[in-house]
Amino acid sequence: MNSPKTSKQLIEQLEMLPWKEDNQEESQHLIQLLKLAVRKAQVNSDSLAEKMTEGVAQCQIICDSEGVVYDYRFISVNKAFETHTGIQADKAVGKTILEIFPDVEKFWIKFYGDVALTQKSNSTTHYNHNTKRHYTSSAYSSTKGEFTMLFKDSTESIELTAANLEIVKSQTHNSAVLNHMQEAFAHCKIICDATGEPINYRFINVNEAFVNHTGVTSKDAIGKTILDIFPDLEKSWITIFGQVAITSIPSSFIKYNHNTNRYYQVNAFSPAKGEFASFRRDITDQETKRIELEKAYLKAEENDKLKSSFLANMSHEVRTPMNAILGFSSLLEDDAVSEKEKKVCLKQIKSSGNKLLTIISDIVDISKIDAKQQKLVFEECDLNQLFDELYNQYSVLNTNAELSIKIEKEQKDRFIILTDETRLNQILSNLIDNALKYTQKGEVTIGYRLKDNTLEFYIKDTGIGIKKENQKIIFERFAQVNDPSSAVASGTGLGIPIAKGLIELFKGKIWFTSAHQKGSDFYFSIPINVQKERKTETTFNHTLLIAEDDDVNFLLLELWLNRHFNIIRAINGVEAVRLYNEHDSIDLILMDIRMPYMDGIEATKEIRKTDSAIPIIAHTAYAMNEESFAIKKAGCNQVLIKPITREMLFAVLATYNIII
Ligand code: ADP
Repeated sequence: MNSPKTSKQLIEQLEMLPWKEDNQEESQHLIQLLKLAVRKAQVNSDSLAEKMTEGVAQCQIICDSEGVVYDYRFISVNKAFETHTGIQADKAVGKTILEIFPDVEKFWIKFYGDVALTQKSNSTTHYNHNTKRHYTSSAYSSTKGEFTMLFKDSTESIELTAANLEIVKSQTHNSAVLNHMQEAFAHCKIICDATGEPINYRFINVNEAFVNHTGVTSKDAIGKTILDIFPDLEKSWITIFGQVAITSIPSSFIKYNHNTNRYYQVNAFSPAKGEFASFRRDITDQETKRIELEKAYLKAEENDKLKSSFLANMSHEVRTPMNAILGFSSLLEDDAVSEKEKKVCLKQIKSSGNKLLTIISDIVDISKIDAKQQKLVFEECDLNQLFDELYNQYSVLNTNAELSIKIEKEQKDRFIILTDETRLNQILSNLIDNALKYTQKGEVTIGYRLKDNTLEFYIKDTGIGIKKENQKIIFERFAQVNDPSSAVASGTGLGIPIAKGLIELFKGKIWFTSAHQKGSDFYFSIPINVQKERKTETTFNHTLLIAEDDDVNFLLLELWLNRHFNIIRAINGVEAVRLYNEHDSIDLILMDIRMPYMDGIEATKEIRKTDSAIPIIAHTAYAMNEESFAIKKAGCNQVLIKPITREMLFAVLATYNIII
């Protein structure tokens, strides 16, 4: 294929054609036509070049003696050449590139030189430091050693591309940074209702950590709304992010998300109106620790307060009975004080001593519970009997005519369970003490019922009740609710904590309901362990009623007798009469004479009103002759003077056919 020619060269070539002699006229005509066509093409091409927005220049290369291109000369240039290079056409045409720009980049000379010598079209984009522009140039060569360049200033597009490249690079970098971050990132658009209130938000972008934080992949998140993903999300998240998106005021906060059950440190800002971006860090571990520490601190502070109030209380509680003991003891030394008054003093000293003992044993008990030293000793116990005893004990103590005590026993007769009776008694007593202490009038009901495998006890009162705001501190050690409306004696604030600690040892639980000025119902339940009645107990032939208020004396009698006889104990005369009336099976009564509330003489008289046959043996430490007489007159069969020996006792019993 012939290589393309310039129009001028084409014309010269045409004129040199070996035209045939015989057809000269025709040949001349043809040549004229061709010349015209070529000229027209040249004009067209020239005017085309003029009209082009690209710079066009026709050049000739200049080589050294070894044929290496080192420069090129401009033969013609178009108008756009001037615009793109800033060099006027008349300053360029005829000049070499090195004459115009002596330090032009060697690249350009080499590039065009190659096109002109190889006649292979080529294109490039390169920088020209003289014009400080980038050019995209296409070059072709129709004649070896010459070339035409078509070029345009591509500086802007290159800068744009470079800028874009930078943006892409930085976006790639940013998204790489985002994806490597531990913090979850989310970019969202807020969704508002007609009034402009934020009601939801839609995910535009999330990073990889978002998946770890929420369990939702970016594919499942992007394009979805938060309520699509977590329909029951706390509304406050939307409100806070909505504020950021609407006001463009950044926000930083710590918040719990119940969907993920985690705590987050969140930093949110608004990259565009109506949008927000948030970084969130999972701080569950540190937040949990902080909350625990805070709780521990508050607890320590509270304990501190409780202890101070306990000490203040204690000092009052201890000082009051101590004062009484010291005061009344000094009166005992005073000769001016009558015998009758001394008896009153002794009574006061005894009662104050008891109060002190209660305080000390409360402290010992709570310390033992705290130190996990308190152990339970399970033995058979007749729950009904325990209830009877409690009832009797408190009925006797209750001097308030406007307050009655009731017991409710679900089981009839004997109800034997395996339990630590002493501790169960202590729990019940603590709660009954409170019920009586905080009830001025009405009723205190003590009862139990069986519920599945538990025994549920209740102590209900119609007293002052506990205000709602005070209810949660009742179980705290040393806590006391100082209700100005209550004119009751204060305590140590240990009764309920001790009861609770003991109930927990039983693997049970305690709770209560209370209404201010209406009363309180305390409940506790413990796992039940019902015992079949011991055969040995039921096979005893004889039942003895022992009326004895002194624990030590009773214990001694019990130890001697309980392996051979059924024993029922009364701790005073009133109880002796009641128990005698309740139990048909009693064969003999051992009656102490000095007992509170009703002495043995009075009790015997009461019993004799209905039963002249039952043997009643009095046992007393102070039997003067007159007293022995009075005892016998009351109806006792015999008087035993303490100290009594085992043999003596069994011998007496035998005379009434009470034999082993
Ligand atoms: P305290 O020795 O002060 O009675 P507790 O631990 O037994 O100590 O009771 C703590 C507080 O609970 C009491 O100070 C009292 O304010 C309140 N409380 C306990 N039981 C009752 C009740 N049955 N009725 C009203 N308030 C009660």
